[in-house]
Amino acid sequence: MATVKKTAGASAKKDSPSKKASQPIGLVRGMRDILPSEQMYWRMIYDKASALCDAYGLERIETPVLEDTALFVRGVGKQTDIVEKEMYSFQTSGGDNVSLRPEGTAGICRAYIHHGMVSLPQPVKLWYWGPFFRHERPQSGRYRQFYQFGCELLGEEDAVIDAQLVLMSWLLLKELGIEATVKINSIGTAECRANYRNALVAYFRPKRSRMSEDDKKRLLKNPLRLLDSKDPVIQEMTAEAPQIVDWLDEASKNHFMRVLEYLDEVGVPYQLDPFLVRGLDYYTNTVFELFDSSNEDSEHGQNAYGGGGRYDGLVELLGGQHTPAAGFAMGIERIVSKLKSMNVTADKKRVDVFVAQLGEQGRKRALAIFEELRLAGINSSESFAKSSIKSQMEAANRLGARWTLIVGQKEVLDGTVIIRDMEAGTQEIVDGRKVVHEIQKKMQQQDEVKGSN
Ligand code: ATP
Ligand code: MG
Repeated sequence: MATVKKTAGASAKKDSPSKKASQPIGLVRGMRDILPSEQMYWRMIYDKASALCDAYGLERIETPVLEDTALFVRGVGKQTDIVEKEMYSFQTSGGDNVSLRPEGTAGICRAYIHHGMVSLPQPVKLWYWGPFFRHERPQSGRYRQFYQFGCELLGEEDAVIDAQLVLMSWLLLKELGIEATVKINSIGTAECRANYRNALVAYFRPKRSRMSEDDKKRLLKNPLRLLDSKDPVIQEMTAEAPQIVDWLDEASKNHFMRVLEYLDEVGVPYQLDPFLVRGLDYYTNTVFELFDSSNEDSEHGQNAYGGGGRYDGLVELLGGQHTPAAGFAMGIERIVSKLKSMNVTADKKRVDVFVAQLGEQGRKRALAIFEELRLAGINSSESFAKSSIKSQMEAANRLGARWTLIVGQKEVLDGTVIIRDMEAGTQEIVDGRKVVHEIQKKMQQQDEVKGSN
């Protein structure tokens, strides 16, 4: 934990001494800018995600980026990679131990308890979208600030909830044109896992000499985590390891069977993965992850689009009442990068009208006309900073404007506006007070022509 030990704000006044004043200040390692050229993908995913949540009756929640460090130590688990080495934790000048949130579920459970949501009709259905922070080694598809979209359904133990969550996460990708493979497993209750854990230790112990120091520690402290390992040596060992399904009690088995039956019913394809355990401590019963179907690499635990599962004990662990719950989180950067590789393009904003101006008086009038057009809901564009009519016409052409309005000195004096039909190359002069109405008429005529074709 604790990658940042300094008191927050203590060094804010000074630049780090190695940086000369004239040197540009770079990005912090693992951080990235999301530039305008990428925004269309973000918006596409956001729109799909929020529409899906609306359809399934989930409500948006936003929790703070900064939480009490204890929330994650208790919630995510002391011995997880996230808490052991990936958290941005620090002490504030007021002496509070806080962390940038590494995941969303713990914060939502805290909010559920804090706001007494237990007294609302259950399940409480929530979704979120925002930045998360993990101090991991940056590489492709792995950043230190990344975005997640996630859903949490709290207060219901029925297996249908688990299935709906798998369905929603799979549907999001499908509706974006991404074929994903769902891998699913059950890790049972804490009791099932305790027995299974012993079996795992017995299996891996004789193989210890081939393990890294980190993995030896995992074997000691949290042997299930070995199944999550991305190390090929461990993955090879795992192939023959005992499987949790043989340790599940009847209720857990039954729950899992029902999840699978529901998935069959709604046609979500899935693969059973006996070694899928997920990297967080709070899961019980169902766990699942979504991988790129077309990418072999993703088979080895690399670059999942997202994952989730049931966490029946978490709310209680955080001081609330016993509240069965389940959820999932999707990594937005990885979905964006897939959409990019698929050459997905969004519809460009259509420009109906370009407002061109000449001279100071013309510019003033043009500003007002632009505002009238905007209020009338007409897609318009301009380049008011330009004074040459030629470059404004070029801009209008580039944007594919259907009509250009031209307001010069003369038009201001006459109270008129020139409407240029960009396709036909014809111009007409109209009363300046009626220009919006004229454009609306033309748009309507155009729609009628289109409709009759
Ligand atoms: P991984 O196995 O890839 O490390 P994880 O199990 O740590 O993933 P989760 O906690 O399940 O990840 O988070 C859900 C999703 O968030 C991941 O499937 C992934 O798409 C995304 N994600 C997690 N960590 C990062 C990161 N450092 N950078 C970008 N996306 C991430
Ligand atoms: Mg991880």
